[in-house]
Amino acid sequence: MYSLYVHVPFCRRRCSYCDFNTYAGQEHLQSAYVDALVQELAALAASAGEALPVHTVYFGGGTPSLLPPAHVGRVLEAVARHFALASDAEVSLEANPGTLTLPYLRDLRAAGVNRLSLGVQSAHPDDLRLLERDHDYPAVVRTMAWARRAGFENINLDLMFGLPQQPLVRWQRTVRLAADLSPEHFSLYALTLEHGTPLAHWVARGLVPQPDPDTAAEMYLWADDFLRQAGFQQYEISNWARAGRACRHNLQYWRNLPYLGVGAGAHGFAAGVRTANVLTPGAYIRRMKDGRPRAFPRTPATVEARAITPEDEMAETMMMGLRLTEEGVSRSVFRQRFGRDLEAVYREPIRRLIAQGLLTWSPDGERLHLTPRGRLLGNWVFREFV
Ligand code: SF4
Repeated sequence: MYSLYVHVPFCRRRCSYCDFNTYAGQEHLQSAYVDALVQELAALAASAGEALPVHTVYFGGGTPSLLPPAHVGRVLEAVARHFALASDAEVSLEANPGTLTLPYLRDLRAAGVNRLSLGVQSAHPDDLRLLERDHDYPAVVRTMAWARRAGFENINLDLMFGLPQQPLVRWQRTVRLAADLSPEHFSLYALTLEHGTPLAHWVARGLVPQPDPDTAAEMYLWADDFLRQAGFQQYEISNWARAGRACRHNLQYWRNLPYLGVGAGAHGFAAGVRTANVLTPGAYIRRMKDGRPRAFPRTPATVEARAITPEDEMAETMMMGLRLTEEGVSRSVFRQRFGRDLEAVYREPIRRLIAQGLLTWSPDGERLHLTPRGRLLGNWVFREFV
């Protein structure tokens, strides 16, 4: 089974913390870009030589909700035409609350999108201003109501913590208000200052204080506790869901299973090859217009293709799988996939990380996963498997 990622690299304007592959002021390219996406889907299917089974589709960005529903529908029609799309496929779309209306949401639902991921970030105007987000919290409340009326039964809210000048009580209020909206899923991300972003620049010049990592850790632990009591289960370092509502698309990444990526800068992993597409929308459109057929999973837009050795794949399986806080990495699944026992391959790092209280085995010895302390020090743990 494959997952399919569709990158939509358009935003109305850039948020202060963002280093994603996205562009403001390029809306005039949207129509040609969607043509190119359809061409890339056709190219992938032609080189695969069969209708590959796809069980999740994810429109990420950028701001996919800037695309008219008819464009989203065109992409989904192409997916259904060229791939064996599961009848119960999860079809997600990332959206910014400020860009949505009730008719838009109805049309999006009718086009086949069945899961929304809303970039809320905060309920407080000062946080939203610092992040240069394009919406206020009342827009989030309105959007949730419209999304339910439009028939969306699977909604994620993205929130950010550890912001400069964000006190713990303000974060607690954001989480409480967001939980009152009864989404099925939460993604909570700690702010990271990405090089080259305006926010990192402001902090470097002393115009905005450094985020405080101790407060961020406190916020994370508080939110985990609060969400558990509110009926959500943490299943990944940054993700909590109601029963049965974990994001199937992202689980595919964390289980290190194959996915195809279409669009500018999209990445893929299939047939033992990791691929990356050309970054800018203009170059992407040109390549898809001019391109010749290439061997699967490459397309005319591919600018990097790296064959993965079994050693790489094992290390990636550990690093990604350990993000899954409950599931972790299964000994039997690992053996089935690689023909080796994971404890034999990684004896030293596992012994060390268990002694440091960062990893533990499930009581039946089948699954290796992070301890609660390990969840706070995930990057430290993952490095041990490189
Ligand atoms: S809306 Fe998202 S992708 Fe676009 S600039 Fe803001 S954070 Fe980046």
